[in-house]
Amino acid sequence: MTRCLGCRTVSQDCIFCSIVAGDLPASVVAADDTAVAFLDINPLTTGHTLVIPRRHVSDVLSADGATADVSALLESTAALLVERLDADGLNVFQASGAPAGQTVFHLHFHLLPRWADDGLLNVHSIRTQVREDPATTYARLTSGLDLP
Ligand code: 5GP
Ligand code: ZN
Repeated sequence: MTRCLGCRTVSQDCIFCSIVAGDLPASVVAADDTAVAFLDINPLTTGHTLVIPRRHVSDVLSADGATADVSALLESTAALLVERLDADGLNVFQASGAPAGQTVFHLHFHLLPRWADDGLLNVHSIRTQVREDPATTYARLTSGLDLP
């Protein structure tokens, strides 16, 4: 039974902990002391890469600082992908919770190299029903806060 660095779950319960521990193969493209970057097994674009913290946290809502664990590797891996794959741009995407589309509950950031003609939808072309007037949303978010 292997535990990854700082992990709160047993690695066999989490496929990404198993990748960190070396128990599950992955195409690792970069790594540092706190994070690992590897190719997604089912790429949405060429070079689709996941960047994860070595320690197990589920998502950004329970990250406990783990977003900082991945920030340096996320930036350097983004630059590597764009340079090596001659991409025109890049999307960074993260899902927290099943309603947001999360399927693997170990924090991960998707890096999606983009080309002008890659055919992947642009997020700005997707619309949902906005639930309330933006002024009401802003008031709910900021009431009682002492903003600078
Ligand atoms: P989510 O839907 O949670 O945001 O993204 C999970 C991602 O993990 C998916 O894009 C899926 O293709 C990828 N994935 C699931 N299992 C494996 C695996 O065993 N190895 C790798 N490299 N990627 C995986
Ligand atoms: Zn995990």
